[in-house]
Amino acid sequence: MAAWGPSCKMPVSISQFQDLIRRTFGAKDSRRGIDGTFLWFVEEVGELAAALRGGSRAQQSEEFADVLAWLATLANSAGVDLESAIERKYRDGCPTCHQAPCQCDPAVKP
Ligand SMILES: [Zn+2]
Repeated sequence: MAAWGPSCKMPVSISQFQDLIRRTFGAKDSRRGIDGTFLWFVEEVGELAAALRGGSRAQQSEEFADVLAWLATLANSAGVDLESAIERKYRDGCPTCHQAPCQCDPAVKP
């Protein structure tokens, strides 16, 4: 798979993005450890919550990118391949009813 990065204009896959995050932050992530990384991830989720409540469209977009980047970092630290994980769990739509759109009882899954 070709590396994705600043000079590449192709759409990015989840695997390519996770690889870019590994190449960009992997050494720092290893030093920080998974517990510290998880705290950063949660902090970014909090920033996304604040942006959704009162931020501009640009701020919201930036916080979504940060949350995804920190999720990729966390997956790297945990040794999880995000693309494979997503494919396994969501390839058939809803993991419970295996439909898209989800046909689960709204009382169970609103
Ligand atoms: Zn469902």
